[in-house]
Parts: sequence; C-alpha cells; structure tokens
Amino acid sequence: MKKKTPQNCGKCGLCLNVCPVYKVLKEEPASPRAKLQLIKAYENDTLSSSPLLKEIMSKCLMCGSCTTNCPSGIDHYSTFMEMRRKMVEDQGETPAIKSLTYLLAREYRLKFGAGLARTGQKFVPDLFARNYKLGNIPLKNFPTLNATPFRKAHDVIIHPDKKPVGKVVYFTGCATNYLYDDTGVATIGILKHMGYEILIPRDQTCCAIPLLFHGAADRASKNITTNINALKGHDVDAIIVDCSTCGEALTNEYPRFIEQQGQNPSEANAIAEKVMNILSFIDQQFDRLEFDPNITEKLSVTYHAPCHTKNNFNAHIIVERLIERLPFVDYKRAVDADECCGGGGTFFYEYPEVSKKMVDKKIENAKAVNASQWLTDCPVCRMNLAGNLDTDDPLKVLHPVTLIYSALKDI
Ligand code: SF4
Ligand code: SF4
Repeated sequence: MKKKTPQNCGKCGLCLNVCPVYKVLKEEPASPRAKLQLIKAYENDTLSSSPLLKEIMSKCLMCGSCTTNCPSGIDHYSTFMEMRRKMVEDQGETPAIKSLTYLLAREYRLKFGAGLARTGQKFVPDLFARNYKLGNIPLKNFPTLNATPFRKAHDVIIHPDKKPVGKVVYFTGCATNYLYDDTGVATIGILKHMGYEILIPRDQTCCAIPLLFHGAADRASKNITTNINALKGHDVDAIIVDCSTCGEALTNEYPRFIEQQGQNPSEANAIAEKVMNILSFIDQQFDRLEFDPNITEKLSVTYHAPCHTKNNFNAHIIVERLIERLPFVDYKRAVDADECCGGGGTFFYEYPEVSKKMVDKKIENAKAVNASQWLTDCPVCRMNLAGNLDTDDPLKVLHPVTLIYSALKDI
C-alpha cells in the first residue's frame, strides 16, 4: 500500500510563473501543479511507475519557489523529495548519479574522488578541456579543486584575533572542503576578526542534500548520523554554515529525517536551533567589523540570490542589505537578482539545454548593471555562473565573505 501524500491543490496556477523550469519549457508536465497531479495518480494506483514519470519528477531544480508561493500551503519540496525516492526505488538511477551518491555517502570516498579529480584536472589536454562540457559547463571553466582539503589544512580549534566574544562551530560542507577553500579562509578570517573562537569538527561530511534530492535516502542516513554526532553537544553561540543548502539540511531535513526513521529528533532539533548562515551572523553583528580605511574606491557589485537562501530562509533580503551596508561597495541590483540560475545541484548536468537558457539570461542581466563582482552564497550557483562566463571575463563570481574579508583592517 502506497503512502498517500495529503494534497489540496486548487489548480490556481500561481506556481507556474514562479517555476524556473516551467518558465523555460512552457509545458504543463514541467509545472509543479502537474507534478502533484501525477504523484496523486501514482499513489492512487491509476498511474504506473515508468521512466517517463521518473524523468518528469527529476526535471525540477528543487528550488522551493512553488512551496513558497502556493496559497494552499502545499509542501511540494518534501512531496517531490519523497516521490524521487520512490522513483529511484522503482526505476533505479543512472550510472552517473549513482556514482555521485556513492561518492558523497562516505567521506573517504569523497576525499579519494576529489584527489583523483584534481590529478585529472592537471593532465586534461587543453583542447579537450575547451571542447568538452560537463552539462552546460565547459571543462576548462570548472574551478580547480583544493590542493589540500580545507579541514585538513586548518586546526580544529582556531583562536580569535582579539579578546574573545564567543565561540562557534563551523560546518564547512563538502564544497568548501574540496572545491572553494577561499570561502572557508574568508569565513574563519571574518569570525576571528569579530572575536570568535572557531571549532571545526574533523569528522563532519557532506550534508546529504544531494543524496536526498536524488532519492538515495538509505545512503543519506550515514551522513546525517555522522554530522549530528560531529555537531551535537557543543556549548557554542552558533553553528555557522557558508552555504544555504547545508543550512537547509541541518535546519529542516535532519529533524524530519530522524523523525521519519522513528527516532528521537531532540539532538537534531538542538542543532537546528543553532544553525546560522555566516552572512546573517555578520549582518547581526556588523559593528564588530573594522574595514581598511585605505580602501577609498568603491567596487561595483551585483548579487545572485541562491534559491535556498531565498525560499528556505528568506535570507536574500538580509544578504542584499548586508552588501549595501559595506562602505566600499556600490551595489547594483540586477532585475532578476532573486531568480534561479539553473544550477540546481546536478540539474545543470542532467538538463543542460534548460539550464543554459536560465544561466544565459542571468548573465545578460548581470552584465547590464556593469558590475565587476558578482556575489553568490551557494557553491553550485557560483560554479554555474562562473562556468558559463569566459575565464577572462571581467565579471568575477565569488562568495560575499571573500569580498568582505578582503576589505577588513589588518588582515
Ligand atoms: S499554487 Fe498551489 S494550489 Fe495553485 S496550482 Fe500550484 S500547487 Fe496548486
Ligand atoms: S521546486 Fe522549483 S523547479 Fe521544482 S517544480 Fe517547484 S518551482 Fe519548479
């Protein structure tokens, strides 16, 4: 007997114009509304599982815009996640996605895979890197993986630069650990400057959102337990994340997952209460920042709001306010600053044509404001935006913390 998902869709269609996939494809099966109807039919046994049904369910960025904008309060996000799990159970997974979830499910595999990929990056012939694409991103535009994993390169406990004002735990996720260590360096630099002692638990791992999005709940279980064990019981002011998707995992998905397993979610709930995005943390204590007085010229900056920053935390408003408060910044908002870039975890790889249309429009609008720095607080958005710009493009994509850190006094 299939579990029935409660649904009260009035078919008003308000979710259509906020769905980035529907806006590109303009066909009903791509809409959140149609996905719900199909799920209902599948659960009522009037529609059989099929490769096509699985494909329709996977043609979604899991951006959460439908959930945020639905007047009937439908939780598409969790409904789609559960349906994806059922589709993998029924139909299996593609070899590429299967390999990805296998890698992400154990830290040692991830470390080995990242090391192998880094070595591969050194030896890929230039011609091949220029002409071969992974999804919509040319290989030559992929960021170089970290020479040393971020957590290995830094102490477990990092002391502040001044009189301590508090203590935080830093959850680095896998992107900062293996791909973008500049984000991690800037995050700890800012926290030290603010007066925080930082604890970086060694035995944390990928937050498991990619596994949950790809229906690999069984594989996600180990990651979730590992991270809860690494993060629980610390007497700290906050658990800092530099990525909203990690924040979403720790805040919403872990307690839900543990409860679904029939276990006590009290440890996951205690962690969830302390999770805070680094940018919100900085915004709350902005007065602790001292900027280099020698920076007199303003930088023109624009921002891309990642879907999870916007839809799961409504924090894009805080981030934009923070950017505007920076004394060395001239903030130039693009007309579509809070629209999806089409990265969506692996969406850029699975549906490159759809993703490309989204990212090209984002690039056009970002260029229209004549900014030199394009800030975004999600590693996949960063990879997707930068990956679709030429490597020598004057518009540079970076995490907001990198810009803030570079302007601090006495660094
Ligand atoms: S916005 Fe909500 S109620 Fe309206 S069609 Fe979409 S899912 Fe149904
Ligand atoms: S999660 Fe985003 S991409 Fe998926 S159906 Fe909803 S609005 Fe569309």
